[in-house]
Amino acid sequence: RAKELGGRRVEVFAAHMHADVVRRLELAADLQRALLENQFAIEYQPVVDLATSRVTAVEALVRWVRGGTFVPPEQFLGPAEDTGLIVPLSEWILREACREVAAWRTSSWDIGLSLNLSSRQIMAPRFVETVESALTESGLPPSALTLEVIEEMLVEDAEETITRLSELRRLGVRLAIDDFGTGYASLALLRQLPVDMIKIDPSFVSGLGGDETLTLLTRTIVRLGHDLGLIVVAEGIERPEQLELLREMGCTRGQGFLVARPMAARGVDALMCTSLSSLHSGV
Ligand code: C2E
Ligand code: MG
Ligand code: MG
Ligand code: MG
Repeated sequence: RAKELGGRRVEVFAAHMHADVVRRLELAADLQRALLENQFAIEYQPVVDLATSRVTAVEALVRWVRGGTFVPPEQFLGPAEDTGLIVPLSEWILREACREVAAWRTSSWDIGLSLNLSSRQIMAPRFVETVESALTESGLPPSALTLEVIEEMLVEDAEETITRLSELRRLGVRLAIDDFGTGYASLALLRQLPVDMIKIDPSFVSGLGGDETLTLLTRTIVRLGHDLGLIVVAEGIERPEQLELLREMGCTRGQGFLVARPMAARGVDALMCTSLSSLHSGV
């Protein structure tokens, strides 16, 4: 009896696995088609200077509209990474975002661009050359580009990854550690990579005011960043009291739904026309 039950359980498991494999293959094929048919778009989320409310940069966030439905990045970035499709996709995002941000820059609005990197993208042949050529072709100055990495990217091929990123930094490109504080190696990463910026993970910001430990940790990260001479960005600001506390802590930059939601390119166009390109929604 036990054997019978066990056997059935294996069957159920196999059927489940089969469905999973089929779904993954379908997703991979859909991603391939999406790339060919240009179903991807970029949204830009403003990053502001918390003291002046000026928009200092925009972070490019990829969007996939699959047959009229929006697919969250968390659902397709993994499969795109596994299939290698992340490499051509990332190159498109890089070139498109550099081109758009270069066009928004004026003498009075020197906004920068923040881009999220994937490990496979960094390890792709000619990664450094691709970034260089995107900068040259768009006319975006290297100092206006910030490349965001998370520590998971340094788990495999750490040495080569650090070499490539350091090479880009020597060209004047800035480096940021994204989701800072969530991984066990956040501090070690500061020693391994020549970074310019840390982005405090929303899990800290969400507890500001309500949770004593998270508030204390956020304050400590802000101080640490400043002591190291880094730009500190707080991510995921949703409530006015979080913003107030961050300002009081001396955090220099912020990003979050309270400040501005990710927006299509025409949204940034409109922003460019508002006075001083400052955001006033609660900021
Ligand atoms: P991330 O780089 O940490 O990006 C911030 C995410 O937080 C974005 O989600 C953004 O929409 C969301 N967000 C911003 N403000 C708030 C807020 O106040 N509250 C809350 N709850 N969320 C907020 P999104 O666009 O879904 O992206 C998720 C992740 O996917 C990104 O996290 C990044 O790791 C990755 N990603 C997005 N675009 C790209 C891309 O072009 N290339 C690569 N390699 N990864 C990307
Ligand atoms: Mg990011
Ligand atoms: Mg983040
Ligand atoms: Mg994240």
